Amino acid sequence: MKRLLVLGAGTAGTMIVNKLRRQLDKGEWAITIVDRDDVHPYQPGFLFLPFGTYRPDQVRRSRHAQIADGVDFVIADVDRVHPEAGNVALADGRELPYDYLVIASGTSPRPDQTPGMLGQEWRRSIFDFYTEEGATALAGALENFDHGRLVVHVTDTPIKCPVAPLEFTFLAEAWLRERDLRDRVEVVFATPLSGAFTKPVASEHLGTMLEERKIVVEPDFLVEHIDNERKMLVSYDEREVPFDLLVTIPLNMGADFVARSGLGDELNYVPVDRGTLRSTVWPNLFAVGDASDIPTSKAGSVAHFSAEIFVDNFLRLVDGRPMVRAFDGHANCFIESGDGKALLIDFNYDTEPLPGRYPLPLAGPLGLLQETRANHLGKLAFRHIYWNMLLPGRPLGLPSNMSMSGKVPAA
Ligand SMILES: Cc1cc2nc3c(=O)[nH]c(=O)nc-3n(C[C@H](O)[C@H](O)[C@H](O)COP(=O)(O)OP(=O)(O)OC[C@H]3O[C@@H](n4cnc5c(N)ncnc54)[C@H](O)[C@@H]3O)c2cc1C
Repeated sequence: MKRLLVLGAGTAGTMIVNKLRRQLDKGEWAITIVDRDDVHPYQPGFLFLPFGTYRPDQVRRSRHAQIADGVDFVIADVDRVHPEAGNVALADGRELPYDYLVIASGTSPRPDQTPGMLGQEWRRSIFDFYTEEGATALAGALENFDHGRLVVHVTDTPIKCPVAPLEFTFLAEAWLRERDLRDRVEVVFATPLSGAFTKPVASEHLGTMLEERKIVVEPDFLVEHIDNERKMLVSYDEREVPFDLLVTIPLNMGADFVARSGLGDELNYVPVDRGTLRSTVWPNLFAVGDASDIPTSKAGSVAHFSAEIFVDNFLRLVDGRPMVRAFDGHANCFIESGDGKALLIDFNYDTEPLPGRYPLPLAGPLGLLQETRANHLGKLAFRHIYWNMLLPGRPLGLPSNMSMSGKVPAA
C-alpha cells in the first residue's frame, strides 16, 4: 500500500482527502488525516458571533462527519515531521510513516507574541474574534459597551482573511448606529498597512468607506506592547492609541511543529512552489492552505481553489505524469459592510481586485467592489455551501484559477 498522510483536518485537508479518496484506488492507497480534536469550526462564522447573528453551535461540526469513509482520521497533536525518514511523530508517541505528505495545518492567532496582550485586560477589555472563545467573549463585552473608544487593531501581516478586521469594523459601526450609540463611541482602525487593504484599488475603495462612516484610521501602526494599566496600544515609533474596548487580531503564525521540523520560514510557513504547492526542499511534501508561504491571501477560498489544482497535479504525479497545472493565487472574498450589505473581491497573484460583475452559476452575477444586498446574502449562504459542497469536495462551478470575465480593468 502507498501512504498519503495529511496533517490538519481543516478546510484544505478535509477537501483534499475527500476528493482523493474518490480518485485513488482503495486497494492501493491508504489515506490518513490527523487533527488535534474532533471539532471542525466554520471560521468565517466567527465574525458574526459577537453580534449574535450566529450561535456557536451553528459554526462547528464534528470533523469525523466531514471526512469520507475509507480515510483514517487520527486525533492527535503533531509533534514533528522527519522528512528524511518519511514519518511523522505524534505528541502521544505514535509514529505515522508516509510516502507523500501534505501539511495543511493552517495558521493561528498568537496573542502570546505581543508583550502585554495576554495581560490583566485580556478578555476584560482586550478581545480577539479569530477563535470561537474570543468571539463569544466579545459578544458579552459588546453587549455592555455603550460609550468610549472602540479600537479594532491588526498586529501584523499576513493574517488569515485579511478583510475580516475591516468587516468587523463596518459591522460594529452599523451595530452602534442601530442602538443609537454611535455618537457616544469613537471607532478607530489601527493597521500596520499604510491604507485599508494591501492592494491599491480595493484599498482606496475601502478607505473611502471608512471615511464615510467617520472611522478614524491609524495607519502604519506597528504595536510594540500593550499597556494594560493605561489601556493603551504603544507602537515601535512610540505612538499611543488609547482604548476602552480593544478588538485585536494577534500575530498569525503557522504551526509550531513546522518550525520544530525545520520546515518553516520565520513565521512557520512552509516554503513551496507557488504554482504546484510542492516543497522547495522535499519532492514528496506539499503544503496547501494557510500553512504555505504562497504570496496571496490566507483564505478559505484560496484553500479551496489551490486544493483543486493540487489534487489534479497529485493524481498526475502518482501516475508518473508531469504536474501541468499551476495555481495563480486565485482568492475571492465577500466583505460585510453593515446594514445588510457586502462587497465581493476576486483577485490573484498578479491581478488586484477590480470592479465589475462576477459571473456565478444560478445566483449571479454579483457586484465586484460594490456594496449590495445580494453579496451579503451570498456571504450568509456560504455557510451551507461550506458544509454541504465545499468540504465534501463537490464541484461549485467556479474556476480554480481567476477569470477576467466581467471585470473592468483599471485604466
Ligand atoms: C474570523 C475569520 C473569518 C474568516 N472569513 C473568511 C471568509 O469570509 N472567506 C474566506 O475565504 N476565508 C475566511 N477565513 C479564513 C479561513 O477560515 C481559512 O483561511 C481557512 O480555514 C484555511 O484553511 P486551512 O485548511 O489552511 O487551515 P484550517 O482550516 O485552519 O485548518 C488547519 C487545521 O490544522 C490543525 N492543526 C494545526 N496544528 C496542529 C497540530 N500540531 N496537530 C494537529 N493538528 C493541527 C488545526 O487544528 C486545524 O484544524 C476566516 C477566518 C477567520 C478566523
